[in-house]
Amino acid sequence: MHKLRLNYKKRLILFFLILISNFIFLNEVQAQNRKKITSVVIDAGHGGKDPGAIGKKAKEKDITLKIAKMTGDYIKKNCPDVKVIYTRSSDVSVSLLRRAQIANEQNADLFISIHCNANASPQPYGVETFVMGEHRNAANLEVAKKENAAIMYEDNAQEDYDNFNPNSTEAYIMLNFFQSEYKNASLDLAERIQNQLVKRVGRKDRGVQQAGFLVLYKTSMPSVLVEIGFLSNPAEENFLNSNDGQTYIASALFRAFRDYKNAYDKENMTEGPAYENNQKPQNVDANQIVYKVQIESRSRKLDNHSLHYKELKNIDYYEHNGQYKYTAGYFLTKKEADEYCKTVKAKGYTTAFVISFKNGIRL
Ligand SMILES: [Zn+2]
Repeated sequence: MHKLRLNYKKRLILFFLILISNFIFLNEVQAQNRKKITSVVIDAGHGGKDPGAIGKKAKEKDITLKIAKMTGDYIKKNCPDVKVIYTRSSDVSVSLLRRAQIANEQNADLFISIHCNANASPQPYGVETFVMGEHRNAANLEVAKKENAAIMYEDNAQEDYDNFNPNSTEAYIMLNFFQSEYKNASLDLAERIQNQLVKRVGRKDRGVQQAGFLVLYKTSMPSVLVEIGFLSNPAEENFLNSNDGQTYIASALFRAFRDYKNAYDKENMTEGPAYENNQKPQNVDANQIVYKVQIESRSRKLDNHSLHYKELKNIDYYEHNGQYKYTAGYFLTKKEADEYCKTVKAKGYTTAFVISFKNGIRL
């Protein structure tokens, strides 16, 4: 018993170290190159010998493929600057690892995995969108277990996932160490998807959730997994199996993508973030001293700083001694900056302080 625990701990540490080293490297490289959303991976869950959830009439693998293709078509038609990448475009088996590899190899900007839910009871229905994270309840863990069980159909699963057992609750403790640099961006996309499915398509809202999905864990870009409804619920199965239902869901996914892209692109094309109350003072003299509130230092650059500090305004950063110092606000008087510093502190950035710049150089 004792020996077993030690092994487990050792493996945990090793796993964690490998994960961190891979992660820092990949994210650094990609965060710096990313200016606009120009590619998206649409991942149709399951396929081939893995049918996914099975309803009375429909199989998950068929519904996800149809909706994936429709979503991709909407994006191609309406966002001609975006490259749509499918992990599969026919009824074939693709491993979870391969799906993530496709996204990483193509250096895609976003990853959207489409799935259908199922429950032992016919009662539950509705939509939920997951990002990679620690599950907060048993139900979310069950969804992750069910989706990760797809690896049982794979030939190299033991090797590809380091003996990960999708049915063991313990295995998910390791996945909980995962901290994605893209978590906020993933949450933003997930919220937009839920919003579209609930407000525009009228699906029941089961919320934005978190759990350890292997397919999300292996991707290195903002990634979500959307459960578009329950095949175990007869009414919802009928909806998902109908052309109308599929069209509604696909157009909702498209609109969520488009809105995310518009917000992201706008922010990256202009100096400041794409949110309201971000107006910088106009006609500032080059020699004018500008005051900002320093929020915190980071060793890594954020991929989308305005989303990260959503509740603050005029987010900017400067580099100093290899650190990225993030600032909020933009004022021409110290008094205004002091005032705003109190607001920033009240939002939880307790070590915030006021700094000044002249000609872009910190004084
Ligand atoms: Zn699935």
